[in-house]
Amino acid sequence: MQDLTDGVARFQRDVFPAKADLFARLATHHTPGTLFIGCSDARVVPELITGTEPGDLFVIRTAGNLVPAHSPEPDAIAASVEYAVTALNVKDVIVCGHSACGAMTALAHGHDLTDAPAVASWLRHAHASVARTAAAGDVPALVRHNVAAQLANLATHPSVARALGQGRLALHGWVYDIPTGRVEDVTAGRATDLTAGTALAA
Ligand SMILES: [Zn+2]
Repeated sequence: MQDLTDGVARFQRDVFPAKADLFARLATHHTPGTLFIGCSDARVVPELITGTEPGDLFVIRTAGNLVPAHSPEPDAIAASVEYAVTALNVKDVIVCGHSACGAMTALAHGHDLTDAPAVASWLRHAHASVARTAAAGDVPALVRHNVAAQLANLATHPSVARALGQGRLALHGWVYDIPTGRVEDVTAGRATDLTAGTALAA
């Protein structure tokens, strides 16, 4: 914990003054252009891997970067998606999977989750991804299939479906590779290395 309090002091002393103008503007403006949905994994840091500043990304992080399909029940993720798309009018949504994902590894290898019933229940949102992955134990393939499946789930949310129909929203699937830092665009089955600086805009 001491590391974190030291970090807060460092932020106040070194980081904040250098960006004072940005933070002053952000005090009254919240206009992110992108909704980034990533895994809760501590190694996947959206702002770091996209080189973005505070205020640029609206972020949802869940175990396994899972987005449940639309349902009538109250749902924190659905509320955040709806807010980003209808109130903030984001232009892009990225679902970002990553290498060595604990959630995908547990599914790919059929880990016993008896002692983690909440995790087991949550991961059911990836069962379609598992079904699509031909080889059991193939974590990289499952990570990719899962990104595609979560993009499909996203499209079941009325706010997303409406924005897609109006042509004012684009969905993107990414996979981040932890040991190399590379990001691959896997939208609609393509595999494009973004590390060379490919533009995000569709
Ligand atoms: Zn993960």
